[in-house]
Amino acid sequence: MKDIFEFGPGRADGDGTQKQVLGGKGAGLAEMCLLGLPVPPGFTIATTVCPRYHAVGRRVPKDVMAGVRKAVARLEKALGRGFGDPKRPLLLSVRSGAAVSMPGMMDTVLNLGLSAPCVAGLAAMSGSARFAQDSRRRFLQMFGNVVAGVPHDAYEHALSAVKQKVGARIDTDLDAAALSEVVARYQEVYRQHVGSPFPEDPFAQLEHAISAVFGSWESDRAVKYRKIHAIMGLVGTAVTVQAMVFGNLGVTSGTGVAFTRDPSTGENRFYGEFLMNAQGEDVVAGIRTPEPIEDLAKESPAAYRELLAIRGLLERHYRDMQDVEFTIEDGRLYMLQTRRGKRTAAAAVRAAFEMANEGLISREEAVSRVEPAQVDQLLHPSFDPDAKRDVIARGLPASPGAVTGRVVFTAEEAERRGLAGEKVILVRNETSPEDIGGMHAAEGILTATGGMTSHAAVVARGMGKCCVAGAGTVRIDAAAERFAVGDVVVKALDVISLDGTAGEVMRGEVATVPPGITREFETILAWASAIKRLGVRTNGDTPRDAKTARAFGAEGIGLCRTEHMFFEGDRITAVREMILAETLEARKAALEKLRPMQRHDFEGIFQAMEGTPVTIRLLDPPLHEFLPHEPDAVRTVAASLGVPEAAVRERARRLHEMNPMLGHRGCRLGITFPEIYEMQVRAIYEAAAAETKAKRPVKPEVMIPLVGTEKEFTILRDRLRTVAAETLAKAKVSMPIVFGTMIEVPRAALRAEGIAKEAEFFSFGTNDLTQMTFGYSRDDAGSFLPAYVELGILPQDPFQSLDQEGVGELIRMAVERGRKGRPGLKVGICGEHGGDAKSIDFCHRAGLDYVSCSPFRVPVARIAAAHAAMAERGGPAKPAARKSKVAAKTTGGKKPAAKAKPAAKAKPAPKTKPAPKPKASKPARKKSAPLRARR
Ligand code: ADP
Ligand code: MG
Ligand code: MG
Repeated sequence: MKDIFEFGPGRADGDGTQKQVLGGKGAGLAEMCLLGLPVPPGFTIATTVCPRYHAVGRRVPKDVMAGVRKAVARLEKALGRGFGDPKRPLLLSVRSGAAVSMPGMMDTVLNLGLSAPCVAGLAAMSGSARFAQDSRRRFLQMFGNVVAGVPHDAYEHALSAVKQKVGARIDTDLDAAALSEVVARYQEVYRQHVGSPFPEDPFAQLEHAISAVFGSWESDRAVKYRKIHAIMGLVGTAVTVQAMVFGNLGVTSGTGVAFTRDPSTGENRFYGEFLMNAQGEDVVAGIRTPEPIEDLAKESPAAYRELLAIRGLLERHYRDMQDVEFTIEDGRLYMLQTRRGKRTAAAAVRAAFEMANEGLISREEAVSRVEPAQVDQLLHPSFDPDAKRDVIARGLPASPGAVTGRVVFTAEEAERRGLAGEKVILVRNETSPEDIGGMHAAEGILTATGGMTSHAAVVARGMGKCCVAGAGTVRIDAAAERFAVGDVVVKALDVISLDGTAGEVMRGEVATVPPGITREFETILAWASAIKRLGVRTNGDTPRDAKTARAFGAEGIGLCRTEHMFFEGDRITAVREMILAETLEARKAALEKLRPMQRHDFEGIFQAMEGTPVTIRLLDPPLHEFLPHEPDAVRTVAASLGVPEAAVRERARRLHEMNPMLGHRGCRLGITFPEIYEMQVRAIYEAAAAETKAKRPVKPEVMIPLVGTEKEFTILRDRLRTVAAETLAKAKVSMPIVFGTMIEVPRAALRAEGIAKEAEFFSFGTNDLTQMTFGYSRDDAGSFLPAYVELGILPQDPFQSLDQEGVGELIRMAVERGRKGRPGLKVGICGEHGGDAKSIDFCHRAGLDYVSCSPFRVPVARIAAAHAAMAERGGPAKPAARKSKVAAKTTGGKKPAAKAKPAAKAKPAPKTKPAPKPKASKPARKKSAPLRARR
């Protein structure tokens, strides 16, 4: 197994497909080399070395270090510089990168190899003592922090002291002499914290840095990040060692980051930021406020043109939005990174829609680009445009959303309060990777410094969290736990609102409105529906739910819970009267009061569902749920029904159950109180008859809950069918009478063949089925399930995502047996799992006919069902043929420098064929490029 993969202009050992081995960064660099883009040469140590490193007690294996030495020797030769050479020092960056990008989570060391004896050489080579000192102090700080754990503050302190002494406002005001003093102080900082002088041997430095990067894979923050993002199954990080290029070489140099499209909105425009005379992380760290990428046209026109050409080339090549890092060294552009751009849900939808229309990707690919989890974000409310806003500050619209919460100033506090269910907004000058837990727990994030690509902005977008960044007028006094904007003071735990789309910070709460679906999203959903096989229905109990779900594209109701109607308005009184009735006569009289109300509800639902199937479940919960228990409530109910309080108390006591979830409920109620179900069935068919007479189509399906034996079903079905037939006959209307059952008791799954001979459809009630299969009471499981997930006993909460191995096995079996009993049996699922993407994928594979979920999950389910269908046949289809005219438009107005490759094979360029090169780039630069500083 190869450990070291070299890359350089026009050549690379691996390619972009090898993320698992090279890490995302290494793979992207290799691919850009193969594309002929200007990339500083280097090599990547494979991810597979990471577990070896940890296995031997955090040591870089000897054979790997030997390989590293050889690779460095080849770099020296290629560049005409020497690692540790005092005259022409070769400087390296040591970078991390796992297969899945974890922005800012792991470590990087820049300017490595810049030992004390090399500083003069670097100064002579570049003609700038200032540059040499600046690079040295950066190296000291990064190495000290990353490798030896010296706190940032210690360095910041020393830097501020020198700045103050010489009267410098920003870092770039410091001259060579001042910087050399910073260097001296930094060396002292290191000695103080570590207890030994700074290690000046370059290979020792390199080994330490490689070790630190591998080590950072297991750092707390990286582990936490992987947990939050459910990143599993990776072996570790790769380490990329690369020749440095210098953005801090003076005013003709700079560094920046950019997205090929707007990652917030998806708009097809080049989007990014840069800083002149700066290095690496200056842009993302929010230390100096960067400039928008368009302004690079003035600062460095040739590099900007080349960057635009590369933007088009990368998009056409990857056929997706890319996020790139670049550095300009004395007017020359170098690409340092490309990866799939993280985007908001809105951006994912718009970019996918437009790329499909541009012919860059197929419609199937467009659908596959929209993550079901992201869709949720699109369905969140936004602020009411008519609501009053007390705007106190403005910042950058870094990540969309409309949130309200209480102000907290530390990530720990955000985490603590957030986990306790409080809505908080984390307010910081800037965030750092340590804050990840707090950012996750907060509703939104507000930062005072930092740009659109700052840590806060990138991470928030990745999490789908609202973020306003760089609100420059916000002055935070963390010690006093407050921030001020002008003379407005906001204290900890005060309520503020953030509008991540407008970049506004408001005092107090702002009213919200429910989300709307954009034209682009509507189209993507229509494409998804054309791909999916599974039907998507909704769980809805009211005409309003039904209307919402229809608007989101529900193809029917999979579960209408009638008991929810029992709580509406003054009906609960009639329900209680029914429960308290001492005689059958009295019970029937109370039920008669309920019937017209139920009928009216059903009419409304039928109308909203426009003739699509509506599955109505007969009463399910135990009766005690409808009775009062508190003394006050008992008194009120007794008074309103005109019965003695003692009667109410006594009935509640008699109905009390130890384990109500396993008690007198579902069809068991129907068997013992048949008149309840009879009333419901009468109401259903009266409503259906009325609608039919009004020439509106209806398709009711009656579902009997909690069946475990064939007999339970047949007894009820026979009795209720008679009621339905009578009702229809009386109304002189005919229509099919359909009775089916929920499968939610394990015994029903086992007996599915026999039950299916009688029942006309199945719907898996996976909440109960999960509860009963595991034997976990879902109301009480909260006390141990989190520990089970933590300990890895269960991969996830089985009430959130279906337990495919266990409960899923029962479902598969029941589907098979059911269809044996009744060929073509229609089968659906109506538990919470019907809206969970992973569970939907399972339902597709298990051959279900439809999933049913809450109205707001319907779009999620449509996308997930389409993904499941595509996954089954090996992924989305590629676009048929590309029209070059359309493709040319993606380069930001400029003609593409290189011809687009046919999209059908967007594979990495084979080494034998010359890769397309953007005209403006001069990738095959020979040996050492001159290193000249410009002031
Ligand atoms: P991250 O994964 O946190 O983005 P990177 O490895 O990309 O970390 O590096 C951090 C910063 O250092 C980036 O801004 C990058 O552009 C810069 N950088 C990395 N390698 C080099 C290099 N060879 N020359 C100049 N700058 C570099
Ligand atoms: Mg990077
Ligand atoms: Mg149930």
